[in-house]
Amino acid sequence: MGKKKVIVIGAGFSGLSAASVLAQKGYDVEVFEKNAKPGGRASQLEEAGYVFDKGPSWYWLPDVFEDFFARFGKRPEDYYHLSRLDPSYRVYFGKDNVVDVPASHKELFELFESIEPGSSEKLRKFLEEAAYKYKVGMKEFVYKPSLSVTEFFDMRILKSLFKMGMFQSIHSYVRKNFNDPRLIQILEFPILFLGAAPKDTPSLYTLMNHADLTLGTWYPDGGFYAVIKGMETLAEEQGVKFNYNAAVEEIVVQNGKATAIKVNGQEIAADVVVGSADYHHVEQHLLPKQYRKYSEKYWDKRNMAPSALLYYMGFDKKIDNLLHHNLLFDEDFNKHAAEIYEDPKWPQKPLLYVSATSKTDKNVAPEGHENIVVLIPVAPDMKSDKEVRAKYRDLILDRIEHLTGEDIKKHLVYERSYAHEEFVGEYNAFKGNAYGLSNTLNQTAVLKPSIVHKKVPNLFYTGQLTTPGPGVPPVIISGQVVASEIEKRFSLQN
Ligand SMILES: Cc1cc2nc3c(=O)[nH]c(=O)nc-3n(C[C@H](O)[C@H](O)[C@H](O)COP(=O)(O)OP(=O)(O)OC[C@H]3O[C@@H](n4cnc5c(N)ncnc54)[C@H](O)[C@@H]3O)c2cc1C
Repeated sequence: MGKKKVIVIGAGFSGLSAASVLAQKGYDVEVFEKNAKPGGRASQLEEAGYVFDKGPSWYWLPDVFEDFFARFGKRPEDYYHLSRLDPSYRVYFGKDNVVDVPASHKELFELFESIEPGSSEKLRKFLEEAAYKYKVGMKEFVYKPSLSVTEFFDMRILKSLFKMGMFQSIHSYVRKNFNDPRLIQILEFPILFLGAAPKDTPSLYTLMNHADLTLGTWYPDGGFYAVIKGMETLAEEQGVKFNYNAAVEEIVVQNGKATAIKVNGQEIAADVVVGSADYHHVEQHLLPKQYRKYSEKYWDKRNMAPSALLYYMGFDKKIDNLLHHNLLFDEDFNKHAAEIYEDPKWPQKPLLYVSATSKTDKNVAPEGHENIVVLIPVAPDMKSDKEVRAKYRDLILDRIEHLTGEDIKKHLVYERSYAHEEFVGEYNAFKGNAYGLSNTLNQTAVLKPSIVHKKVPNLFYTGQLTTPGPGVPPVIISGQVVASEIEKRFSLQN
């Protein structure tokens, strides 16, 4: 009798999470990753003396990371150093209309009161409710496998769903309480992480405001990649074996059971397979047709979260009027949202996110320089040719110059852009998506593509296209949920 062999496809956050937990439980776990390094969408770009986080940069929900490492008797600090940012971020509503969101509640309430008299008391209540939603959401929903609605048939849970305004949109909930457009935008901004417009997002997700305004924005020294390296080390400590430059070409299925994967034409036997690459890729490209659970039509109808047009830029000077995180909300949010979700096209006047980790970390850019990442959320499934990329590059430089009042164009010494084509080429991303599926009501919990493959019972899925959804904390949870499901169904030994 030998240990059961679990093969994990992909070494992003969800794959690393699932692999570590399964190895800790006693399975023989091997990860196959198509790229040369772990990280997936959270990879790192290091060039010309600059270090850029290619994907995630907002470290939110530190408790989810703590809970994950605690499973192994560890703490995040055993692997990387965290500090809390204060202010958490800067919002540019216009050249002379700038709001810095502070870390402490005291200063936050003062800020709200100064913008809209009477709003601090409303914010206190709003955040109390958000804290309740977070507590219940984390306890009752997020760690569930979402395989059947019966998981949620509990009067206590149903009652709490109504209490949390599950069936009201964030759009109307926020406007019931606040009038100033700047406060509304600050409260709706975290919804961007969920990949849907506030009017399509249930107000349960104001739990994200608890994440933002109460739990805070943190920075891992060295950037987000330090977290990937930490999780890779942890996985190795649990006995996980990693294979890089190892793209899986096929999942071999015999008599309804996944028996092996094919890599470089070679078959590697498996007892259980976990697909942590994009669900669509694993299902539609790696699995023989007769075993696919969903059709291309099904996939085509999914509401995808936005993709992103990104620029990694190095400047040979400091840009004083930027903070570590900056939201350039000086254009009409609704117009940009419509160009992403309703009538997909290149946005005319996009909102921008600008990150400058060199504000906090001296090791990510040469001294006196700045490493800037600019993100424009855009609809998935678009083509970004040279002209498009040149156009938005100029738009970005003009906007940053205008808003900060700083001369930056002639100080740009390194640049690279990144969009749909790269997401597909590097990660096999469905429609070039950046953040997976939107968290709309009809794509929540049991209504998401299932983590269990019913036609091939030893094939499982994890990651941002399944439950609980996109974002680093949710996909770390997703890996743990799938590991528990495997443990329930498969003994450790053959
Ligand atoms: C630009 C951007 C900004 C973001 N910002 C934030 C943020 O600030 N905070 C936050 O919490 N989240 C953020 N996110 C979301 C977060 O990064 C993702 O939800 C998360 O990293 C996804 O992890 P995953 O494991 O599901 O998928 P992935 O990271 O895509 O991992 C899947 C892995 O599978 C590999 N793979 C694909 N096909 C194969 C194959 N055939 N064989 C072997 N391997 C294969 C891929 O190379 C990849 O490494 C951001 C994402 C992007 C793109």
